[in-house]
Amino acid sequence: METIYVKMREEEIDRDQIRRAGEILRGGGLVAFPTETVYGLGGDAFNPASSRKIYAAKGRPSDNPLIVHICRLEDLSRVAREIPPEAYRLAESFWPGPLTIILPKCPELPDETTGGLQTVAVRFPSNRIALALIEAGGGFIAAPSANRSGRPSPTLAQYCREDLDGRVDMIIDGGQVGLGLESTIVDLTQPTPVILRPGFVTREKLLEVLEDVNAGASFETAAEGEAPRAPGMKYRHYAPKGTLTVVEGRTEDVAAYINTRVQSCRTDGIRTGVICTEETKALYRADLVKSAGAREDEEGIARELFRILREFDDEGAGQIYAESFARSGVGCAVMNRLLKAAGHRVVTV
Ligand code: AMP
Ligand code: MG
Repeated sequence: METIYVKMREEEIDRDQIRRAGEILRGGGLVAFPTETVYGLGGDAFNPASSRKIYAAKGRPSDNPLIVHICRLEDLSRVAREIPPEAYRLAESFWPGPLTIILPKCPELPDETTGGLQTVAVRFPSNRIALALIEAGGGFIAAPSANRSGRPSPTLAQYCREDLDGRVDMIIDGGQVGLGLESTIVDLTQPTPVILRPGFVTREKLLEVLEDVNAGASFETAAEGEAPRAPGMKYRHYAPKGTLTVVEGRTEDVAAYINTRVQSCRTDGIRTGVICTEETKALYRADLVKSAGAREDEEGIARELFRILREFDDEGAGQIYAESFARSGVGCAVMNRLLKAAGHRVVTV
């Protein structure tokens, strides 16, 4: 299939192109589009054939559920049932925005969309291109991240193109996304709400609205043979082509350790990469030294992380070392993605 490319700015929505994209969605086709978190790969959530196409385009296992995107709060009850007051409190505080809520699903919603689960993940995004598209597409758009399974979530349209060219009907280029990490997922079907995936809506922020919320397994993955606590946990997450190691310790010790490793890699003819911060980038002698931004700017680091990981693949880094980041606030989401990408390979020096 020939993929149609369209460029658009959030401040200047192209109504004709949105109408065209909406027709594609209503006709059972797929459209990749920007959201405030990462690019999504959208299909009509009520069309089982669309959901099957999403899995096929991504190369994703069909029991890894999709997130249903809505553009009006009143539409929540069209996909979810037994909606507790906590859901409305969360919606009031964080929607539209980077929060996904898990609730029991309506029977009308196809099993294909929820990966066979009787629960549904729902999000009301804030990006205006996303909102216009959801409305044009019928109001209920199933959309996982717009990457091939096993690659980092796309933060730029060019990454959607690399992964999905010829596999989707349209890609809407809305520039670099604002946040750069996927939404926070909160499961409201448990006696106490659980964070299934940390994100910009931090546990601290959730606790301003909910009486209690469990942190979930932010820094773990399901062990071999163990039942996964969140769908998606049992799947291999993005891993760079090179070996990624997170190095923890005092700044000077971390730099000394990494530089020693870099030296021995050089002897072996292996290209090296480092993920660091503005404050420390001058300390490293690796072939590729990439700063994710100022250390105190956690949101900036979150925005750059997936781009940096993709660049290391493109530039052929065989051994990659990353500084570690604080595990609180947005840093919790950054470390969650970094540790998954590293397969939990951590060295403390
Ligand atoms: P992605 O949009 O690519 O980040 O993928 C969506 C993720 O949302 C899945 O991998 C799951 O971890 C999560 N998810 C979606 N639906 C459910 C659900 N019903 N219950 C728990 N987690 C879900
Ligand atoms: Mg994803």
